[in-house]
Amino acid sequence: MKADFYETLGVQKGADEKELKAAFRKLAMQYHPDKNPGDSTSEHKFKEINEAYETLKDPNKRAAYDRFGHAAFENGGMGGGGQGFGGGGFSDIFEDIFGEMMGGGGRRRSSGGRERGADLRYNMEITLEEAFQGKTAQIRVPMSIACSDCSGSGAKPGTQPVTCSMCAGHGKVRASQGFFSIERTCPQCQGRGQTIKDPCPKCAGQGRITEERSLSVNIPSGIEDGTRIRLANEGEAGLRGGPSGDLYIFLSVKPHEFFQRDGADLYCKVPISMTTAALGGSFEVTTLDGTQTRVKVTEGTQNGRQFRMKGKGMPVLRQSQFGDLYIQTAVETPQNLTRRQRELLEEFEQLSSKENSPQSSGFFARMKDFFDSFGER
Ligand SMILES: [Zn+2]
Ligand SMILES: [Zn+2]
Repeated sequence: MKADFYETLGVQKGADEKELKAAFRKLAMQYHPDKNPGDSTSEHKFKEINEAYETLKDPNKRAAYDRFGHAAFENGGMGGGGQGFGGGGFSDIFEDIFGEMMGGGGRRRSSGGRERGADLRYNMEITLEEAFQGKTAQIRVPMSIACSDCSGSGAKPGTQPVTCSMCAGHGKVRASQGFFSIERTCPQCQGRGQTIKDPCPKCAGQGRITEERSLSVNIPSGIEDGTRIRLANEGEAGLRGGPSGDLYIFLSVKPHEFFQRDGADLYCKVPISMTTAALGGSFEVTTLDGTQTRVKVTEGTQNGRQFRMKGKGMPVLRQSQFGDLYIQTAVETPQNLTRRQRELLEEFEQLSSKENSPQSSGFFARMKDFFDSFGER
């Protein structure tokens, strides 16, 4: 049979909050496991005291206990199985009381109210050349550090923060609805458990200030547009000793003036003159590795013809392979002709036969035949 909560704490049934707290403190000190190492009776007693106080300090739970006794919190008991009494209570209460007792004034709570720092996003734009080469980028990211003037307390030097009146230093308040209780961060002190009368001028009472820090980021060669690089624990510092968040680098690769990228392959459109296309010739392209490559244009090269240059594309991420470079010719029709040029071209036209332009000659006749044959069916 479970001991009566009031008896456990050694108080009267009508004891007020103050009496409960005082009784709990006294007993908790007496039976604290640190003071009675290896003593299982003390440990058991300590747990009982905690459970009793946890229940009685909450007016809703206390009312339920007064009406139904322990049955109120047993499985399948009232109001859907005691949801309000989640297992977390023990350590919570421990922190609440002992944090306050041992902390005295001004000591920063080392646990309780720990919050993970926010993840940070950093947008970085690099050129295609940089994506080809890979690089080590130096970036500057904001970092929260403890204020040196107030040693992170947020209070003006020479003054001390005071225990928060709303949460009595717990940093958390409980809102209860029937048997359900929701714990939330205290709105008055934002979970610090303390409030500041005279804020530190340097940090405006925040206890931490933001500084920029330089970070080097390794961008591997062959990286693609839209890649996200995660730098674990490089995000915002945690609150009250919580872990840091992560830093995410969102990488975008700037469009290139000459090269379009498709995975590891590159495409480049090269305009060539009509005469080069007709007579043959060559041109030089500079590839992303900085070397010059001569491309031979054969006689009678058509518009849109593609030349493949093996291994002249982008490096494949984390591999020693390269994609290909595709050069596509764009034959440029001459414009702004002089009279002499016009004469020459007209003469050329007169001398031309079907063999000079097999695709265009007879095209319209063939097209007409094609559709006429449909009509006959
Ligand atoms: Zn508070
Ligand atoms: Zn400060």
